Amino acid sequence: MTQSAAQSPKNPGTSPPIAQVEGAQISALQTGLLDWYAANRRDLPWRQTRDPYRVLLAEMMLQQTQVPRVLPRWHAWLERFPTLEALAAAPTADVLREWSGLGYNSRAVRLQAVARHVVAEYAGIMPRDVPTLLALPGIGEYTARAIACFAHEQDVPVLDTNVKRVLHRVLLGPDVPKPLVNDRQLWALAERTVPIGRGYDWNQGLMDFGSIICTARKPACLVCPLRPICRAAPTIGTALAEQQGARRRAGRSDAPAAVPFTSTARFFRGQILRALGAQPANAGLTLDALGARIKPDYAAAERPWLHGLVAALHRDGLVTADPAPARPAAVRDGAAPYMTENAAPTAQDDLANVRVTLPHG
Ligand code: SF4
Repeated sequence: MTQSAAQSPKNPGTSPPIAQVEGAQISALQTGLLDWYAANRRDLPWRQTRDPYRVLLAEMMLQQTQVPRVLPRWHAWLERFPTLEALAAAPTADVLREWSGLGYNSRAVRLQAVARHVVAEYAGIMPRDVPTLLALPGIGEYTARAIACFAHEQDVPVLDTNVKRVLHRVLLGPDVPKPLVNDRQLWALAERTVPIGRGYDWNQGLMDFGSIICTARKPACLVCPLRPICRAAPTIGTALAEQQGARRRAGRSDAPAAVPFTSTARFFRGQILRALGAQPANAGLTLDALGARIKPDYAAAERPWLHGLVAALHRDGLVTADPAPARPAAVRDGAAPYMTENAAPTAQDDLANVRVTLPHG
């Protein structure tokens, strides 16, 4: 089974390892993996629907959140926003409130941007083909193919981290200390592996297999049904042990001390959105009031730090700051893609007047 070039990432490369993968090896993988999936498939609610909106929601939530945490939130979200139209029409502040606690809140804004675009441009009907899906705002290679496969049952490869790892190990060899091929080459290989008419089970099965059996750090090679055909099986244990040894040695010498999560910008971004979500609609908070809610020992001297966080959230469309933060010079010049704690060039007294709210739209 091969896919059309129009459905591949641009210019997929080839390499000697990929050229050496034989059809018989791929057939054996297809048989072994589909047999394993038939006996071990997880009963997940987004596998009982082909509604593109529900599939898209699951994919967005699962991108950086584990299945057990996503399950109740997926149901709750659909209670609140049962259709693309409902999501498109909702105030962004409500969307962010509903997403609160899942982390990486820009996913919620992207999800609503897709909903608004599909409602405005496609009468609320999600496109089917990969090139058109790729043209939607915030939809990348993975998500476009996930919708094409999991909503429309097209035989396209869906390559997430787990799938990449499984294909690499079984067909090419150990993926440690580093992969033998790059992502584009792996996409080209993945195109050859999708069984005709079985793309849905194939991709779901690969994802399950990668998260249950062929995990990144502790693959269950001893009980793995693919062991007889797996090119990594003879050496994967040794390769992982050597990699872990190298990590330990680096940890003893010059590795930086781990930073507690509660000290990170990501933690405080979440705290800011949670504090604003608890406010009445459009009420907002000054920087100092916001700081007191997210940090017990907050002091006015920390306004520039807090303003830096707010400026980054403002730029991501997750909050509205009034007055709007000036764009940092480094970003204007294209030299730095992301500002975190760097304060915009605003005087300390001016910062006291900044009000922050969830987006009004
Ligand atoms: S034998 Fe080990 S490395 Fe190969 S697919 Fe199975 S779990 Fe993964």
